[in-house]
Amino acid sequence: MEQVMRNTLLWLSRNRRAERWARRFGFRLGAGRFVPGESLEDAVRAVEQLHRRGLAATLDHLGEFVDRADEARQAADFCVRTLERFADLPYDVYLSVKLTQLGLDIDEDLCMENMRKIVARARDTGRFVRIDMEDYAHNEVTLAIYRKLHAEFGTEHIGTVIQAYLYKSADDIRALAPLKPNLRLVKGAYKEPPSVAYPEKRDVDENYKRIIDLQLQSGGKTAIATHDEAIIRWAKERVRELHVPDERWEFQMLYGIRPQLQEALAREGYKVRIYVPFGEDWYGYFMRRLAERPANVGFVLKSLVKA
Ligand SMILES: Cc1cc2nc3c(=O)[nH]c(=O)nc-3n(C[C@H](O)[C@H](O)[C@H](O)COP(=O)(O)OP(=O)(O)OC[C@H]3O[C@@H](n4cnc5c(N)ncnc54)[C@H](O)[C@@H]3O)c2cc1C
Repeated sequence: MEQVMRNTLLWLSRNRRAERWARRFGFRLGAGRFVPGESLEDAVRAVEQLHRRGLAATLDHLGEFVDRADEARQAADFCVRTLERFADLPYDVYLSVKLTQLGLDIDEDLCMENMRKIVARARDTGRFVRIDMEDYAHNEVTLAIYRKLHAEFGTEHIGTVIQAYLYKSADDIRALAPLKPNLRLVKGAYKEPPSVAYPEKRDVDENYKRIIDLQLQSGGKTAIATHDEAIIRWAKERVRELHVPDERWEFQMLYGIRPQLQEALAREGYKVRIYVPFGEDWYGYFMRRLAERPANVGFVLKSLVKA
């Protein structure tokens, strides 16, 4: 039953008519739980509130897949404006970007040009940019672009993501280790076939521990991005055993998911960074969060009753 619900929600996340319908209700559907707002100023407010709760942030300007060069350039310009808006604010915040939003499927050179512009601005304002990892079809090219940008800007300004559900990820971490990379480690969010990804959750969880272990010992920086309490407990222990210095690792979670756990970890003294998506294209992101945990649909129904 849960699987049927999940597939239906994922199908709805890509359905234009459902999107038009949902947008009429806007944030009254409850999207505000996962997305603090549509504008850059909404994002500034959210980062400030997180800061007051002892939490750092990474910003993601939500966007649909783009297929025109001018749209990709506009997306890059918005990233630059975001970095500039935060330049003089005293918050621990950086940027997360998706390469398909910056023109990867149109022309790799255009995407590189956009990324150079963004990372150069990040370097000039003392910030960091992380390339989110998308589906398997974009995995190799994302790693190749990451390597090029790393050669130009260094570990301080560019990082990427490795997904535990892919069979290849432990090898990728070993191959990247000489760069002492800054990597966010996640379980993986896309629907991938068993030819490339572990179909069973327990295998994903095992591989997640394996790649955390490898990356913690790489000499780079590690962001452990999960809401899974068993993994979080295990990671705390492993970090202690390996004597990993505080500045070389952190926990990360999504805005609106397990907020009490986020604060509890921060109170215990751990660095916790929250991924803050914002922008007008909230519909697809919102539906994917519901699909991850169909029980969340209950609160959407409650929001509708209250609206
Ligand atoms: C900061 C951050 C950045 C990410 N970046 C990427 C990326 O670049 N590429 C990528 O493929 N994936 C990314 N992800 C998503 C990730 O791959 C997982 O899909 C997602 O984090 C859910 O897995 P989990 O590790 O929390 O564990 P799970 O085993 O899925 O969940 C553990 C527990 O977390 C809670 N939980 C999880 N999801 C929800 C939800 N939607 N609503 C309510 N509770 C929930 C539940 O209590 C659940 O039992 C990112 C995740 C985070 C936290």
